[in-house]
Amino acid sequence: MEGAPAHGDLAGRSALVTGGGSGIGRACVHALAAAGAKLHVVDRDGPAAERVAGEVGGSAHVVDLADADAIQALPAEIDVLVNNAGLQHVAPLHEFPPEMFTLIQQVMVTAPFLLIRRCVPHMYAHGWGRIVNVSSVHGLRASAYKAAYVAAKHGLEGLSKVAAIEGAPHGVTSNCVNPGYVRTPLVENQIQAQARTHGLPASEVVEKVLLDRTPVKRLIEPAEVAALVRWLASDPGGSLTGASVPLDGAWTAN
Ligand code: NAD
Repeated sequence: MEGAPAHGDLAGRSALVTGGGSGIGRACVHALAAAGAKLHVVDRDGPAAERVAGEVGGSAHVVDLADADAIQALPAEIDVLVNNAGLQHVAPLHEFPPEMFTLIQQVMVTAPFLLIRRCVPHMYAHGWGRIVNVSSVHGLRASAYKAAYVAAKHGLEGLSKVAAIEGAPHGVTSNCVNPGYVRTPLVENQIQAQARTHGLPASEVVEKVLLDRTPVKRLIEPAEVAALVRWLASDPGGSLTGASVPLDGAWTAN
């Protein structure tokens, strides 16, 4: 890829995707690379980051986003920042481990803040930038047993809006995308666990358990989320900022 001409409206732009080694992040890496961007793939899983970066001729950065010092070593000359890395822990409030609550806030709120803080001076200097925060329906709604995840996603929503307001005079947009259940390793594992717990085949777990509140009875594909992220990063996407876009089969409408 090195030296090959890049086509598409993101040619000449640099993009950084956290959690780019798997699932939605990997799909975003491919969509932004197809639009011409030069990719930085950030993940704590080194082999996954290297593999995905290799798929698109990008650079891998093996970083644990809970480590604030390590974030300072990441490139700051970024035009498109996708805050995507995340993790889940399910437990009732009175049993929720405080250290897990803190870790989830560090990875899913503090790291996006540190990356936005680090990258906006370059974006402001060029009068153009795109910040896309991969939130969730749980940035807009709550579910039992997901205290840390719901709190973090709601925090990310607020951070994204502040970035939109401060970035507006500098040509920088900031938005959240809010997926329902997406077919990624994170969710495939939940399906198997729920199938065992409920004594149901996996197909019925998807329809009756995961998609109970969702009118569109199918999982979302990572590429569908990535297509929205890619559009938000485009020039026409400059008209949309400070928004949260549900991609949830009408879950939040229901
Ligand atoms: P995934 O588990 O497939 O990928 C997450 C990636 O983040 C992994 O590569 C993992 O190594 C990386 N990561 C996790 N903690 C990290 C850390 N401390 N430092 C660096 N990298 C770290 O998950 P996914 O389903 O693709 O989720 C991506 C994002 O989408 C998350 O923010 C998640 O909350 C959000 N989301 C997922 C769904 C879904 O149904 N899968 C729905 C809504 C929102």
